[in-house]
Amino acid sequence: MLEITGLCVDYGTTRAVVGLDLRVDAGEAVALLGPNGAGKTSTLHAVSGLVPVTRGTVLFDGADITGHSPSEIARRGLVHVPEGRRVFPSLSVDENLRMGRIAAAGRKGWTEADVYDLLPALVPLRDRAGYALSGGEQQMVAIGRALVSAPRMLLLDEPSLGLAPVVVQAVYGALARIAADVPVLVVEQNTVAALKLCHRGFVLSAGRLALSGTADELGDRDSLLASFLGKR
Ligand code: ATP
Repeated sequence: MLEITGLCVDYGTTRAVVGLDLRVDAGEAVALLGPNGAGKTSTLHAVSGLVPVTRGTVLFDGADITGHSPSEIARRGLVHVPEGRRVFPSLSVDENLRMGRIAAAGRKGWTEADVYDLLPALVPLRDRAGYALSGGEQQMVAIGRALVSAPRMLLLDEPSLGLAPVVVQAVYGALARIAADVPVLVVEQNTVAALKLCHRGFVLSAGRLALSGTADELGDRDSLLASFLGKR
């Protein structure tokens, strides 16, 4: 479904991603792991058209989307939930969710009611402004808005970042239900949460692929992973 081949991303003279090959098949949840600065976010940004691709190709559903604009890529249904959530601060939860319809481009997606079913913690907050939400609530709204935009695949950047363990559980519980419906590629430093959700994982170190395998294989290579990631 998503096939990244030989991806290189540069910022001036800094090479952030070096020849990465990665694929996500239909029906799969895949984790992209690694320490700070490993190139995970740069990979997602390159896939979504948010930073230029220096070299390599990105295919989505067989179509070459390398270098396409972020809006064009989102219109194809490859939907990015960025780190830091980017909830509209002055819009209510309900309005934030409805904004997802703009990117749906006529595809049938989740309704706002479906999102409230999946994330009942948002029900009492539907009229609350984005700026007044906690980090976990913002993360749920960002995921909900992505669902309303009728994703054919979701790219998630550190959905657990800065959240209390109990909130991480709630967010990952929702992601497990979403992943039954939509393939996901999730960038995480929380390896435990990500490998519980995902079938396979890729570990980046200094922009290069350091390890890949099934979630079980990566979970078993604890000491090696710990050297990249630290234990959580
Ligand atoms: P984090 O978890 O901290 O976000 P990451 O694995 O997502 O880390 P990236 O953010 O992709 O890593 O960063 C990869 C490398 O590219 C780092 O060396 C980083 O300093 C550099 N980098 C990232 N964004 C920029 C930028 N806009 N300009 C210059 N260098 C950048």
